[in-house]
Amino acid sequence: MAVDLQATSAFATAQRRFDAAADVLGLTENTRRLLRDVKRELTVHFPVQHDDGSVHLYTGFRVQHNINRGPAKGGIRYSPDVSLDLIKAMAMLMTWKCAVVGIPYGGAKGGVIVEPDELSRRELEHLTRRYATEIALLIGPEKDIPAPDLGTTPQIMAWIMDTVSMHAGHSVTASVTGKPTDVGGSEGRQEAAGRGVTYLTLEALKYLHVGEETPTVAVQGFGKVGGSTARLLHEAGLRVVAVSDSRGAVHNPRGLDLAALEEHRKFRGGVSGFKKADDISGDDLLELPVTVLVPAAAEQQITVHNADRIRARLITEAANAAISPEADDVLHEQGVFLVPDILANSGGVVVSYFEWVQDLQAFFWEEEEINTKLHHVITRAFYEVLHASVNKRIDMRKAAYVLAVQRVANATTVRGIYP
Ligand code: NAD
Repeated sequence: MAVDLQATSAFATAQRRFDAAADVLGLTENTRRLLRDVKRELTVHFPVQHDDGSVHLYTGFRVQHNINRGPAKGGIRYSPDVSLDLIKAMAMLMTWKCAVVGIPYGGAKGGVIVEPDELSRRELEHLTRRYATEIALLIGPEKDIPAPDLGTTPQIMAWIMDTVSMHAGHSVTASVTGKPTDVGGSEGRQEAAGRGVTYLTLEALKYLHVGEETPTVAVQGFGKVGGSTARLLHEAGLRVVAVSDSRGAVHNPRGLDLAALEEHRKFRGGVSGFKKADDISGDDLLELPVTVLVPAAAEQQITVHNADRIRARLITEAANAAISPEADDVLHEQGVFLVPDILANSGGVVVSYFEWVQDLQAFFWEEEEINTKLHHVITRAFYEVLHASVNKRIDMRKAAYVLAVQRVANATTVRGIYP
């Protein structure tokens, strides 16, 4: 059995994926050296006074991987699992993600080591404002534009935007995306990542000529991305048979009543114990015999330890780095068709880009227009990746990387930076 060589370092894994694409492209050593490392990394330690009067020191990061195609763009994660290594990996992924869908951004990511559920609303606001102040020297509408990620919300984005605006002395709505619509957020942003996952899944099923009348779906993670993906795939006529969250999973082969499940989740704090389905383990969900598997939770969920037991025909990798490089090979050999993370979840950053454009021009679009534009951008990217995959006889992940790395390398070379 193969071993997950770099399972301990997310950044080393990201670099390995870059190296594989650079080999296909025959990139020069100079360009490789530039693109396989990050441009800026900032670590900050800052105090937050809790409601009981005690003062806690928190650690946060903001990393910019590359800005050759435009300002840096990337989410902010609040999680106990945040580390500089992980944020560097995610920043690099953002560079490729923006390039593969052809939007004019570089890549960044930020995060704070914190369990947000353990903080009161006041503590969360103080932590956010303090973190935003600490990273203020890097962020701004022309420089680096944060957005929500795991553990962060539109409200948190509003606090960051307000903090940046207080420093500037005027409203800088374009400094952050994923904000509430009351303060310059975009229609359609909340479910944009899930909508992108849905469009891509439907396009991939069309390409695969899946014969089943009602393809079945299992979704790992019932949060912002997984929740909207499940709902939108159901609305598109697919049968969602299983979903999970960090506490457990539920399964009903006849299809889940998602509206009732959402009510249950709100009331019980998780999906487990839902009356109209059976409780199963999160691991079992991944191995169900479904047409489509959507990992929409966390990194490294499909590895050499379970890849050979995956029975889905198609995986749309909604969560960043949900599949390890070694598992990629196993899945490819098994004939599983993959829509890789940098393409699969790009709907979020595409509509973030639309939000930024709307804020800059202070002219807002209707949701229908946004969804139509998202569909256009993401479908074009899907077929560009597919053609690269077929023409170069490489898997979909490598094809997405090859396209993205080529675009960033071109921008680097044409700007005259060490050709
Ligand atoms: P979220 O916090 O809203 O939801 C995460 C969900 O996953 C929760 O339901 C949580 O309980 C569940 N979960 C966590 N660990 C799990 C496990 N081991 N098994 C099953 N479920 C588990 O986060 P989100 O914004 O939906 O992000 C999910 C993924 O999508 C992340 O990888 C993130 O980077 C990526 N992503 C998010 C966006 C966005 O716009 N929110 C955009 C692009 C990519």
